[in-house]
Amino acid sequence: MIEQNPFEISQKQLDACAKLIDLDAGTLAVLREPLREFHVSLPVRMDDGSVKVFKGFRVQYNDAKGPTKGGIRFHPDETIDTIRALAAWMTWKCALADLPLGGGKGGVICNPREMSQGELERLSRAYAQSVCHFIGPERDIPAPDVYTNAQTMAWIMDECCKISGKSQFGIVTGKPIAVGGSAGRDDATARGGMYTIREAAKELGIDLKKATVAIQGYGNAGYFAASLCNTLFGSKILAVSDSKGGIFNKEGLNPEEIAAYKRETGSVINYPGATPISNEDLLELEVDILVPSALENVITGANAANIKAKIIAELANGPTTPEADDVLQRNGVHVIPDFLCNAGGVVVSYFEMVQNFYMYYWSKEQVHDLLDKKMTAAYHSVLDAAKKYSTHMRLAAYTVAVQRVAEAMKVRGWV
Ligand code: GLU
Repeated sequence: MIEQNPFEISQKQLDACAKLIDLDAGTLAVLREPLREFHVSLPVRMDDGSVKVFKGFRVQYNDAKGPTKGGIRFHPDETIDTIRALAAWMTWKCALADLPLGGGKGGVICNPREMSQGELERLSRAYAQSVCHFIGPERDIPAPDVYTNAQTMAWIMDECCKISGKSQFGIVTGKPIAVGGSAGRDDATARGGMYTIREAAKELGIDLKKATVAIQGYGNAGYFAASLCNTLFGSKILAVSDSKGGIFNKEGLNPEEIAAYKRETGSVINYPGATPISNEDLLELEVDILVPSALENVITGANAANIKAKIIAELANGPTTPEADDVLQRNGVHVIPDFLCNAGGVVVSYFEMVQNFYMYYWSKEQVHDLLDKKMTAAYHSVLDAAKKYSTHMRLAAYTVAVQRVAEAMKVRGWV
């Protein structure tokens, strides 16, 4: 199968939306490309004394609605086009969640699994040094993403503060609570996704207490999704996986025990009391809800017809290709598209920014309540658009988001 370029996919999705809402050519031309991007080379002293140079990127896709916002990924297969696509999706995500923010994304080509904590810290600080003058609460606010976490954000924040000589906690979000992080940021992506699953289940008449679930990926989003499906809904988790492979048990898996096992062994594979299953087979399991929570391009024209789930809740960014979308729509699968389903992370990041500005911090309950309101409103704006335009949920999500960004560009006089 030919690898699909994620940026071309994102442009294809936008083109389809532009056609549907009859978007003018000038606005479309602006929205098809990032407004700004940075390519950086980061020299890092490795533990063996050598110096290695890592390539990094930061893309500020569109800031019509406010400063750009989006995570930083550390991944060996990172490319500028993946970051461009992810930055575009952040633009739609923030607009759909009705946040006063634009979209951005960053990445560094590196393999964090082969690096020590010291090397990761020096790499994070090197990244901060090279982008610190171009980020911050009025410009562009990074956050965690694939293989980065609250610790990474603390290093980046600390480095930027040292350079500016000021306490600027709001320069990044997803920080540890001890240094300006928000309560409820850790499970926000998964929790936000749960609220959209709850609304989708109501719409489709699915009883979540009896529902079965398969989750691809067991990082931050995947683990919390498993745990919350259990605690919020009482659904049964039949299968989970990570990059090394998956595990299956038709009686249900215990998310906390698997997390403990993964912490010890580095993977979910060979977990006792479950049978092995490949990442490919997991996607095709007979379950009510499928939750892709890992990387892009896993549901494609090649396997979409074999998907048996009633709901696909995309906690990952870009897991489904446009070819797959058409097949899923024909087969009546209800897709909660990525930039709706996984918006909870950036919603609570936005709450973190607000708290940093105010220097006053909210309780976890307040955060959950406000997150629920935002996600529920976003879900219903997409469902309404899907009905209005008789189209699938992804294209419907685009119509809502793109019109909001287009309006901001118009009133600012850009187009
Ligand atoms: N990396 C997350 C995302 O893709 C969160 C971004 C943020 O909090 O800014 O939505």
